[in-house]
Amino acid sequence: MRSEHVFCHEPQERHVTDFDVCVVGSGAGGAPIAYAAAKAGRSVVVLEKGPWLREGDFFKDEVAECRRRKYLPDLRAEPHVVAFDDGSAWPTHETGWDFWNGSLVGGATNLMSGYFHRLKPVDFRLLSEFGPIDGAAVTDWPITYADLEPWYAHVERVVGISGRVVKHRQADTRSTPNFPMPPLAEHPVSGWLDEAAAEVGAHTFPVPRAILSLPTGGRRGCEYSGYCGSYGCSSGAKGSARAALIDAAVATGRCEVRPNSMVAHLASDARGRVTHAEYFDAAGVRKRVDARVFVVACQPIESARLLLNSRGPGHPEGLGNRDGQVGRFLLSSAGGSGSGTLTVDRFGDALGDRRPFVNRATQVDYVLDDPRRKGGTVDFLWRHPNPISRAQSLAWGSDGPLWGWAYKEKLRRAFKRERELMFEVFCDWLPVPGCNIALDPDVVDRWGLPVARVTLEGHPQNIEVGKALARRGESVLRALGADDVSSRTTWSPSTNLLAGGCRFGADPATSALDRDCRMHHAPNVYVTDGSFAPTGGSVPYTWTIYANAFRVADRLLADA
Ligand SMILES: Cc1cc2nc3c(=O)[nH]c(=O)nc-3n(C[C@H](O)[C@H](O)[C@H](O)COP(=O)(O)OP(=O)(O)OC[C@H]3O[C@@H](n4cnc5c(N)ncnc54)[C@H](O)[C@@H]3O)c2cc1C
Ligand code: SF4
Repeated sequence: MRSEHVFCHEPQERHVTDFDVCVVGSGAGGAPIAYAAAKAGRSVVVLEKGPWLREGDFFKDEVAECRRRKYLPDLRAEPHVVAFDDGSAWPTHETGWDFWNGSLVGGATNLMSGYFHRLKPVDFRLLSEFGPIDGAAVTDWPITYADLEPWYAHVERVVGISGRVVKHRQADTRSTPNFPMPPLAEHPVSGWLDEAAAEVGAHTFPVPRAILSLPTGGRRGCEYSGYCGSYGCSSGAKGSARAALIDAAVATGRCEVRPNSMVAHLASDARGRVTHAEYFDAAGVRKRVDARVFVVACQPIESARLLLNSRGPGHPEGLGNRDGQVGRFLLSSAGGSGSGTLTVDRFGDALGDRRPFVNRATQVDYVLDDPRRKGGTVDFLWRHPNPISRAQSLAWGSDGPLWGWAYKEKLRRAFKRERELMFEVFCDWLPVPGCNIALDPDVVDRWGLPVARVTLEGHPQNIEVGKALARRGESVLRALGADDVSSRTTWSPSTNLLAGGCRFGADPATSALDRDCRMHHAPNVYVTDGSFAPTGGSVPYTWTIYANAFRVADRLLADA
């Protein structure tokens, strides 16, 4: 494997220029740094391994956008290795199990659905609130909700979050009375859900979305294409790191983006300070860029891999890894999903309303009783409209595969007379030592760099809590009058919701980063994607990644 995947490059190192800040990776963790630093007058270079696509490059074609790897690396050239505690391990090009989420300027935020939730105060104090858990390394964060709250509000304004504040027992504590723009238009089912949820004691509330409901700052408002998650946004309404932040950073004239630049190594001097980043450009030429401060934001698996691949005289075990903390406690989002079928016969023609958004969630089980422990969030949404995957999912009947008239009739009914209302469950993926990122000893990528070996292990509590939340989701769908209600809880991680791997904390013996996300052992290096999180919380992470990166940018500007 190793020799097959090495591309031969003659190193042609040449000094390009100096910058105050070098950001590696342009997604939710990297773009806020580029934006804040450029706005504050610093010179910034962003090195991004993927291409720089603009609004006009995105279109709604399920084959091109979702079924081909338009935004993802070729797994044969850039695999990961997934390993388990029984010692088994497979490269991802053999299994198709993929931990890449979007390799382009703006990262996976181009493709996200934009369901945005804040963490809650308990998420910052998991150990203090709920006590130790056998087999899990739960801990408190070194910051509190109050420390992050102003940055959540900042993201609402700068990235653009639409929504509506309503009073309920789990409502967020906010420093501003409402969202900067009104909520998106909703399908009538949202009101029906509110009534059904109230009947079973599961108060639903409007879900904030990182989607502009009104044109703002040169970006158009949402055009309700409906093909949102997994698709790029051609209106600029989606709050991608590219549309919301990178474009604005570049407009200052102080931020240079270098797409198709795969950073291979962060070179450091004997004092342990990083001096320059080495990267391969689109032609495979090895280049370097110098800066005073370096920010790593490649998503948790690739950030840990880059740090571990960046050995130097002061960092023989990998950059900032003197205490072996880089790559530990990878987190995902635990949970599962469920669904039920709504029929025109029961709900009338309003079911066919074309507005794509449901935007409802319940968090009545954010803390579960008996035993008292962290619960989570249930988000309601229509099944993705992708017609090919939907037709595929209907191809099986109770007695095996369907074809001919039976299949056609099922398709006709599903597409014209029914809609599938789904829910997704988000709960803590508890931090366990057996879930981590290392370098694979054998497999290398197309540049000859060792790939990440991702060892997966889930804590049994993930499943127990996921099941409790799924039961809540099912009860709401049943109260609504849905047919065929069912749910699935999985031990598998959500590959598009990743965090952990470089915990922040006060003690270098148990964390890779300090409370400002600066590496304990590499003083001019910050890690600002979701890697910093020592515990994950029971919501999708991206609002928190954005908010924390802005918080860090504020600290980092003192150094740059
Ligand atoms: C289909 C989908 C739907 C989602 N929906 C939601 C949602 O509704 N709500 C939510 O909160 N979150 C959602 N997410 C998750 C969200 O996109 C991520 O949480 C967020 O993008 C993570 O930010 P990041 O900066 O860690 O990584 P990314 O955004 O993935 O950015 C990392 C960037 O680093 C680049 N990179 C990696 N290695 C290198 C290297 N060595 N050199 C240079 N560049 C490198 C990558 O190419 C990438 O562009 C969704 C994700 C997907 C894929
Ligand atoms: S126009 Fe609206 S629905 Fe379509 S991709 Fe953009 S944000 Fe999503």
